[in-house]
Amino acid sequence: MTQPLLEIKNLYVNYGAIQALLDINLVVNKGEIVTLIGANGAGKSTTLRAISRLINSARGQIFYNGKEITRSRPDQVVSLGIAHSPEGRRVLARQTVLTNLELGAYIRSDRLGIKADIERQFLTFPRLGERRHQLAGTLSGGEQQMLAIARAVMSQPKLLLLDEPSLGLAPQIVREIFSVIRQLHEQGVTILLVEQNARLALETAHRGYVLEAGQLTLTGHASDLINDERVKKAYLG
Ligand code: ATP
Repeated sequence: MTQPLLEIKNLYVNYGAIQALLDINLVVNKGEIVTLIGANGAGKSTTLRAISRLINSARGQIFYNGKEITRSRPDQVVSLGIAHSPEGRRVLARQTVLTNLELGAYIRSDRLGIKADIERQFLTFPRLGERRHQLAGTLSGGEQQMLAIARAVMSQPKLLLLDEPSLGLAPQIVREIFSVIRQLHEQGVTILLVEQNARLALETAHRGYVLEAGQLTLTGHASDLINDERVKKAYLG
């Protein structure tokens, strides 16, 4: 067996008295798109925040490429090759599109490479190129989502954590964004995708996990999950 790119073992996360994650065991292999689906408040964002070390876990371990990152700093995790595109986009509203992208590359020092990568983002997302000097806060929701993904890509991740990329966006924009997610995957980026749109997520991913009230209740190939009666009833309406 090859070593997983990401492995979470028996992970628990609490927010004060609230137990957000209980005994999570999850694997993402190199080259996969894996999705984490579940209802509001199930703990999906918390899982991504634990991986990128934005929150501490109470128990358990997280490994990236065999190296334990359970207590690493967020910038160390980025340097190792993990980027996080958070829910709600969280772009820097008072900074331009260009500055947001430059900040996404904060761990890098290859100025020419950064410049070339920014131009590459503008080829992928022409709307961002047209708006490069515009303040991010004035972009549409879809454009902000594109910027959040492009900014994450600027750190040259091997593993991209995507939190709800379709949230609140019109169907056409969602199609554009998912087409870029597939392109990134084809370029060699492994993806852990959190989505409330379970159908879209399972149509995009190779494997999936179902999270319910902080616990993983089901896992399998995406094509099996999409036909699973429990998944259909709870998430595919
Ligand atoms: P959503 O899609 O609504 O964000 P989610 O599956 O991503 O849902 P989380 O945001 O991970 O869920 O939340 C998991 C649980 O932890 C919820 O009960 C939530 O209320 C709680 N929680 C999340 N963030 C905090 C926080 N900062 N302080 C206290 N409780 C929190």
